[in-house]
Amino acid sequence: MTLRVLYVCTEVFPLLKTGGLADVSAGLPPALTAMGSDVRLLLPAFPGVVAGVTPEGPPLPLPAGGGPGLPSGVGPQTASAQGPAPWLQAGRITASGVPVWLLHAPGLYEHGGNPYLDEHGQPWPDSAEQFAWLGWAAALLGTGLHAAWVPDVVHGHDWHTGLAFAYLHELSRTAVHRPARVFTVHNLAYQGVFNAELRPRLGLPDGLFHWQGLEFHGQISFMKAALTYSDAITTVSPTYAREITGAEQGCGLEGVLLQRQAQLHGILNGVDDTVWNPQTDPLVQPGFTARNLKGKAQAKARLQQRMGLEPRHEALLFSVVSRLTEQKGLHLLPAAVDELVRRGGQLAVLGSGDAAIEQALRDCALRHPGQVALTVGYDEALAHGIIAGADVILLPSRFEPCGLTQLYGLRYGTLPLVRAVGGLADTVVDCSLENLDDGSASGFVFDELDVNNLKVAMRRAFALQRRPADWRAVQRHAMSLRFSWARAAAEYLRVYASVMPATPLV
Ligand code: ADP
Repeated sequence: MTLRVLYVCTEVFPLLKTGGLADVSAGLPPALTAMGSDVRLLLPAFPGVVAGVTPEGPPLPLPAGGGPGLPSGVGPQTASAQGPAPWLQAGRITASGVPVWLLHAPGLYEHGGNPYLDEHGQPWPDSAEQFAWLGWAAALLGTGLHAAWVPDVVHGHDWHTGLAFAYLHELSRTAVHRPARVFTVHNLAYQGVFNAELRPRLGLPDGLFHWQGLEFHGQISFMKAALTYSDAITTVSPTYAREITGAEQGCGLEGVLLQRQAQLHGILNGVDDTVWNPQTDPLVQPGFTARNLKGKAQAKARLQQRMGLEPRHEALLFSVVSRLTEQKGLHLLPAAVDELVRRGGQLAVLGSGDAAIEQALRDCALRHPGQVALTVGYDEALAHGIIAGADVILLPSRFEPCGLTQLYGLRYGTLPLVRAVGGLADTVVDCSLENLDDGSASGFVFDELDVNNLKVAMRRAFALQRRPADWRAVQRHAMSLRFSWARAAAEYLRVYASVMPATPLV
């Protein structure tokens, strides 16, 4: 029997991307499919997503909460009595052929730009409704709304899908079909917490609103709904899975996670080889391999030229491709830049986010013209250019569920300099003497989140640069590491199996 998986998310590369979740949604479903599963994505019909999907078949109307055959008081209400009801449209991602359901809900998803934040960086005012409908669509599909395709597993990603688990909990009291419910935390810091007064509008019965349900300090928490009402929880690295059961990284939900520890699994993300492969990357040509790095030297020269850095091939070129936030530890970086430049290094930064961090980095660029460059914004081609052309990629993160750019850096021989936290601790091995000696070193790792530790790790990078044979050995090892989606998919299949033991997987 083929395992049917409804994969519920809000972004997928290349149609819509704000961060790593989009890369995961592009990489994991095809890997599960390759292992024999039948996976369909469910996404809100944001404009970028609609533009990249070819519809197939007729629309499927989505009953609102309390609709015919549904328990009363469960499920979101339509905002206006006159407006058309939300509906689902089946289709395929045009470029990849991956099957999807798009959730259309008039007035909820048509805004352009960022799916979560308006032009002032504030959450869209109807955020709760937007993602309640997403959860509701998942719950209805999960309990058999479309008889021709009923999933065995509903797999939701991040807080936006959290109410799916609460609705499924309610619907499964009466529904004939009860899918296994798996939830993946990509970032526990974003929780979807809303005013309790929204409960009737979202169709969340009073019986769910208590401290062992989805109530969080008197409010509705979408994240807590998922953590409470899923059968299994995964997160994107083994270390983060441990960290979130403690007060420091638990964001107030450590108690819930500790209680569910037996069903909490850490599964490292993979790298999509069709997008991030230095030999075939169309955004980085000529390509390169660990044995022939000529293309990498050319990528460095192109990057220096593009970002207005002096064309010094011997300069150790540090880089950042990231949201510019405290989560990423980038508030530490400006204080380390003068020393980095004094030691002969350069810095190329691509990102946007926190205004104070942006400004501090802009000041660094003004102070060190030709040695420090900042591009504010989101730019896929430049991201590839940086990860290919730089020598070192920096992730001094405060917390990091998995982190993808260090994995891309490893693949492109751009050694990651990271703080030992979350997925960074699981994927990068420091260039200490003993690690150099046994061939396991792949980057530079520091422990405490402060600027002196960051500077010491930078010094280690300069020291390794002065030992070219060692640098090459570390680079070769880094480029040989593989974080495949096939390995991750096999682990997800094991998690699915653990919550549906009676069902054979293929
Ligand atoms: P997070 O999801 O926390 O932002 P990840 O490391 O998991 O961090 O994933 C970030 C993804 O977004 C990577 O694919 C990275 O290359 C990409 N990215 C981040 N900032 C930018 C940017 N300014 N321009 C292009 N790509 C970016």
